[in-house]
Amino acid sequence: MPNPAAPVSDLPAEERSEFQARVHEWFAANAPRKGSPEDFSAVHIVSAATAEEYRAQEQHAISVTRAWQRRLFDAGLAGRSWRPEYGGHGAPDWQDEVVIEEQARWGVSTKMFAVGLEMVPAVLFGHGTHEQRATFLPPILRGENSWCQLLSEPGAGSDLANVQTRATPVDGGGWSVTGQKVWTSNAGCSEYALLIARTGSREEGRAGLSCFLLAMGQPGVDIRPLRQMSGAYHFNEVFLDDAHVPENGLIGAPGEGWAVLRTMLASERAAIGGGTSARSATQLVGLARTLGCDGDPVVRDLLAQAAIRERTLDLLRARIAAGHAVAAAGPTTKLLYSEHARLSADAATTILGMAATVVDDEVSAPWIERLLFAPGLRLGGGTDEIQRNAIAERGLGLPR
Ligand SMILES: Cc1cc2nc3c(=O)[nH]c(=O)nc-3n(C[C@H](O)[C@H](O)[C@H](O)COP(=O)(O)OP(=O)(O)OC[C@H]3O[C@@H](n4cnc5c(N)ncnc54)[C@H](O)[C@@H]3O)c2cc1C
Repeated sequence: MPNPAAPVSDLPAEERSEFQARVHEWFAANAPRKGSPEDFSAVHIVSAATAEEYRAQEQHAISVTRAWQRRLFDAGLAGRSWRPEYGGHGAPDWQDEVVIEEQARWGVSTKMFAVGLEMVPAVLFGHGTHEQRATFLPPILRGENSWCQLLSEPGAGSDLANVQTRATPVDGGGWSVTGQKVWTSNAGCSEYALLIARTGSREEGRAGLSCFLLAMGQPGVDIRPLRQMSGAYHFNEVFLDDAHVPENGLIGAPGEGWAVLRTMLASERAAIGGGTSARSATQLVGLARTLGCDGDPVVRDLLAQAAIRERTLDLLRARIAAGHAVAAAGPTTKLLYSEHARLSADAATTILGMAATVVDDEVSAPWIERLLFAPGLRLGGGTDEIQRNAIAERGLGLPR
C-alpha cells in the first residue's frame, strides 16, 4: 500500500520532458493546427440531415481516423504502454498520457477509435485470453479495426442488469445472438463490437449476463441510423437476428458478463475523465489573453472556477495513477470531468461572445466542438445521476 503522505507523482521528470519534446516535435511536423482548413479534431461529431448523408459522413470520419491512427503507429506513438506481442512498446503508462495530451492540442482526433483504444484492451487484459489479445489488439493500433459497444437496449440503459438480448449456444460451437440494441455510436463503421447479452434466465439478473466479441459485418446484424428530435442522425439502433459469435468470442466464462461490464465501464469512465477538456482551464486563460479580456472581473471569476475544477481533477487522477486507494474513483473522475467540460464550454462562449457562433475560426472552432459535445458527456458512459449514486454507495457507504 503506498504511503498516503507521499507526493502524488514520482515520475522521472527529465525522462518525461524529453519524451514530451520528441512527441511535440513529431506533431508539429505532422499534425494540422486547430482551426486550420485541415483540422479534423471534430470529425467524430457526425450529425446529418438524412440517413444516407449520415452514413457517408461516418465513413469519411472513420477513414480519416484510420489514416491518422496508422501514422501514429508508424511513428511508434500508438500503444506505447501495450506489450510488444500485442503491437505496443512495453513503455510506462505515462507515455500514453503524453501522446494523448499532445494530440489534444492539434487538429486531429482518434475519438472514432475510442472503444478500440480504451475499452477493448481493458476488457481483454482483464478477462480475455492471450489468443483474443493477440488477434484483436494489434489491428486496432494499426488503425485497421474499429469497435463499437452493444450495451444499451430500449429497456436497459442505466440498468444494464435488465439486458434482454439473448445468446444461445449452437450445435457445432459458438453462439446465436438475437435482440435489439440502441444508442450505438459508430455501429455502421465498426468491424467488431463488445456485446453484452443474456445467457442465463431473466430471473438471474446480472448473474445471467455474458460478454462477447461480435463481428458486425454479418447478415444477422441490421444497423439502422436513428433520427433525433432535431431531425439529425447521430446514433444507431442495431437489430441482431441469429447473429453468430464463434466459440472463442466469449470473454471470460458464461455468466461473468457483469464483471467484464464493470471493467469496460470503469475504463470508459476513466477514458472520458481524461478527455480533451481536461486542460480547459489553461486553455481558457490562453483564450482570454488572446482576446484581451483577462482583466475583466467576470472573465477572471470564470477562469478561477475552471482552474479550481481542473486542479481537483488533476490531483484526483494523480492519486489514482500513483496507486492510492480512492473510493468510487471512476465515477468521481467521470462526474468531475463531465461538469468541467460543460462549465468550461459555457465559460468559453461567455468569453468569445458573438465569436462563439463562427465555426471556421481558429480561435472559436475548438470551443464550439466542445460545446456541442459536452451535453452527451453527461449521459454516455453512465449518466451523472448514476455516477452520483455510485459515489454515495461505494464512496460514502450510504444505503442503496
Ligand atoms: C454521446 C452518447 C454516446 C453513447 N454511445 C453508446 C454506445 O456506443 N453504446 C451503447 O450501448 N450505449 C450508448 N449510449 C447510451 C448511454 O449509455 C445511455 O444513454 C445511458 O446509459 C443512459 O441510459 P438511458 O438513455 O436508457 O436512460 P435511462 O437509464 O432510462 O435514464 C433516464 C434518466 O433517469 C435517470 N436515472 C436512471 N436510473 C436512475 C437511478 N437509479 N437513480 C437516479 N437517476 C436515474 C438517468 O440519470 C437519466 O437522467 C450513448 C449515449 C450518449 C449520450
